[in-house]
Amino acid sequence: MRVLLVEDDRRIASDVVRALEAAGYVVETVRDGEEAWFRGDTEDYGAVILDLGLPGMDGLAVLKRWRANGRQMPVLILTARASWAERVDGIDAGADDYLPKPFRIEELLARLRSIVRRSAGHASSVVSSGEITLDERQMRVSVRGVPIAMSPLEYRLVAYLLRHRGRVVSQHELDENVYGHGEDHDSNALEVLIGRVRKKLGPDLIETRRGFGYLVPETPA
Ligand code: CA
Repeated sequence: MRVLLVEDDRRIASDVVRALEAAGYVVETVRDGEEAWFRGDTEDYGAVILDLGLPGMDGLAVLKRWRANGRQMPVLILTARASWAERVDGIDAGADDYLPKPFRIEELLARLRSIVRRSAGHASSVVSSGEITLDERQMRVSVRGVPIAMSPLEYRLVAYLLRHRGRVVSQHELDENVYGHGEDHDSNALEVLIGRVRKKLGPDLIETRRGFGYLVPETPA
């Protein structure tokens, strides 16, 4: 999943990027409010982590403009200002959750998982399709309860499709959410990756819809 991190403090940003990438997210970082507003308004992200004190445009103003334009992605606010009045302002502006600095990276990851799940309408960090189960807390994919070893790319692919099960996901959307910026890959890399995943998880998990994309069907639990 693609996450936009808006944070002007380089040290915090690099710690958060490292943790997010280790947890399987594709991360893009911006450092000022104007650029953040533009990216969030024109690109699709699975979630945004937004600092409030930013050069250019205040984080709260950025968030208000996104919501006014109908941008619905889940947003986790990150800030040094931890007074209750500012928390209320953030929630009123359309934030999904709020994390005061300093924070533990584990708490940031837990809150991020939780706002993403809520926005997708899932109550649990474990999702299944047929015999395949994804556990996002343990970053584990299993078939009939048996864990399967996966590369980070394979995991990101399976996690994205399972999170969006029941809907056709275009090649372009998958590409953006599996490969990070500057992560080199040619045009048929995705097909090769899907082939590898089918070998590990069985041929039936991912359906190909020629000309449209890929689908993991929603199956009754
Ligand atoms: Ca700041």
